[in-house]
Amino acid sequence: MPRPWHPTPFLTFSIVLTLLGGLLAAVAPACWPVWLGLVLSDHLVLVGSGFVPWSTLLGANLSRLPQRPGAPARVALTFDDGPDPETTPAILAILAARDTRATFFCVGSRARTYPDLVRAIARAGHEIGNHSWSHAPWFWFLGPAALTEQIISTQRVLGRLAGTAPAWFRAPAGIRSPLLDLVLCRLGLRLVSWSRRGFDTVDRNAERVSARLTMHLGAGDILVLHDRASSRDPKGQPIVLSLLPRLLDTIAARGLATVTLGETLMDDSGARIEDQPTAIREGRAAPPGGRRDEIPPHA
Ligand SMILES: [Zn+2]
Repeated sequence: MPRPWHPTPFLTFSIVLTLLGGLLAAVAPACWPVWLGLVLSDHLVLVGSGFVPWSTLLGANLSRLPQRPGAPARVALTFDDGPDPETTPAILAILAARDTRATFFCVGSRARTYPDLVRAIARAGHEIGNHSWSHAPWFWFLGPAALTEQIISTQRVLGRLAGTAPAWFRAPAGIRSPLLDLVLCRLGLRLVSWSRRGFDTVDRNAERVSARLTMHLGAGDILVLHDRASSRDPKGQPIVLSLLPRLLDTIAARGLATVTLGETLMDDSGARIEDQPTAIREGRAAPPGGRRDEIPPHA
């Protein structure tokens, strides 16, 4: 379902400044260097903020899980860039052995190539997110039509294979343009980034990657790993496979529960928070039979 789009205060300011700059440069041509400088500086910040994965200047962006008062502290494990015939089944086996659920951000073109892997992810009870059709390095540079095509074609293939179209989108490399928020709202998707990153695609040392993920790991963290293009250890094994069991041990030892991203939108009874009456969603009334969940700040 499409969601109404409301530009952020920063986007609104940028739009007004750009229009005002053009107008004043026309009315008072002598001042054009000043206005040009201001507009260019603003656009520099605009583009730069798209390179900061957890930034909310360009639109809603879930980078940490909301924590429910009194509920177990929780974190979310996410795997990007798959599915991959070598790594994805092995990750699924490790997660199954620990009865752990995660969210897999799949690339549409790879899902089309490996449909059985997408079905296996969904069958195992994991959530599937949209990670664009081609994971193009120039994704952040695309216009609205191309962005829509990248996302909606992935929605179609993942929805068909998993039975439910994804609710979450993660931008390739976490880099996005100021146009993405508008496109995601039209398609009814939510942007999610992360709070913990191990750089498992570039660092071949599993200990270091693990240390980055677990240092200060705590309630609300969203961890990003990769089930494709993982670095390989000296034995040639993708390091995600050797570090994942230890990572799950650490999560358990710190008393953290692992949830899928979709569970953050559910209350204790399993009902979607968005489907509840406004008074319950805003905390002015309790839901039937219990305490209300905390509403994600972007909801
Ligand atoms: Zn990616």
